Amino acid sequence: MSDNKNYGFTTTVLHNDRRKPIEHGSLHKPVHTSVTFGYEDARQLASVFQGKEPGFRYGRQGNPTVSALEDKVSKMEDGVATICFATGMGAIGALFQALLKAGDHVVSSSFLFGNTNSLWNTTAGQGVDVAFVDATDVANVEQALKPNTRMVFVETIANPRTQVADLARIGDLCRKHGILYVVDNTMTTPYLFRPKKVGAGLVVNALTKSIGGHGIALGGALTDTGLFDWAAYPNIAPNFRKLAPSAQGMAQVRAKALRDFGATLGPEAAHHIAVGAETLALRMERTCANALALASMLEADPRVAKVHYPGLVSHPQHALATELFRAPGSLFSFELKDGIDCFDYLNELKLAIPASNLGDTRTLVIPVAHTIFFEMGPERRASMGIAESLVRVSVGIEDTEDLLADFGDALNFVSKL
Ligand SMILES: *Cc1c(COP(=O)(O)O)cnc(C)c1O
Repeated sequence: MSDNKNYGFTTTVLHNDRRKPIEHGSLHKPVHTSVTFGYEDARQLASVFQGKEPGFRYGRQGNPTVSALEDKVSKMEDGVATICFATGMGAIGALFQALLKAGDHVVSSSFLFGNTNSLWNTTAGQGVDVAFVDATDVANVEQALKPNTRMVFVETIANPRTQVADLARIGDLCRKHGILYVVDNTMTTPYLFRPKKVGAGLVVNALTKSIGGHGIALGGALTDTGLFDWAAYPNIAPNFRKLAPSAQGMAQVRAKALRDFGATLGPEAAHHIAVGAETLALRMERTCANALALASMLEADPRVAKVHYPGLVSHPQHALATELFRAPGSLFSFELKDGIDCFDYLNELKLAIPASNLGDTRTLVIPVAHTIFFEMGPERRASMGIAESLVRVSVGIEDTEDLLADFGDALNFVSKL
């Protein structure tokens, strides 16, 4: 398979490994577990080390199985290069380790995955100042910019309250000021949305979630879309300045974040994720349809106080989400009316499982304020719009009628308590 046709999303993912010859005609890139890679000619080893010819040297910086996944993620995001990490947080932590310095300033959406929020608070103690803003309006981002702002960081659809960032206008703003625009695309995945379209320079994907999709492997990725001008980025060390400008950013990330800090994705996990990615589009079609059906049913129910899902007309960024995304995602959250205890409700569900992952094939539910957002305390929760009774639902691929019955029956039961 060596033609240059422009194939669709799933065809590309399925056949990408075979675009380079694979041992024995294998259809999947094999799982290469070797930690190191030997060369018959010691001069060749030296030239691989010096970057004069391609090749693998030691597994912390690169592995053939992981490299095949990196190439696949680049294709999915229409990017120029991808680096995989042991987890999604490894990929986000790499931004800090490899691209920021003491004295730098970051503007971040305040509607964030809890651990990213925690990471930005850690960096504050290490000289990198982070301003949290309501990124649903570009004006708030613009107001927070400073001369030393190096990076603007947003999520596409925020987890768990589903606010949608003003993605395209923030992209325009960053381009105008030459600031690196980083978009965490985990909630939408490259099937629903490509951040390159709105000018992102780097894209984060937690591969653990929908891309891997089956809850069996952790992983993360950082993709360079090729839009950001690394030659103008002040924090590139002199030895990476020698490279072509387009390669400087990712070379520094691979060296400083992967080689020096070691959050390396293992080959077995990369294989699990690559297999999961083959059905990403099929699963997203199903989970998004299920999410819309469930969210609509709950919104129409008088025992439910609020439902947050960009697919509902009542959502403040419904129009924006419809314009930007192929579908509004597999995750929604809702609040029960006062007097109905969310724990009693969750305990009545027979299919949906109380658990903290998302993007799984199975439907998972979690009482947000009491678990993943417990540590940050009531004030920060309130500022992020997290009600104490908020339940997050990561919708799976179960049959729609079964899910509707499960959530409906549990409501009927608890409203009689
Ligand atoms: C889960 C998640 C992450 C982190 O991914 P891990 O693989 O769990 O480290 C980052 N961003 C978002 C939006 C997530 O949902």
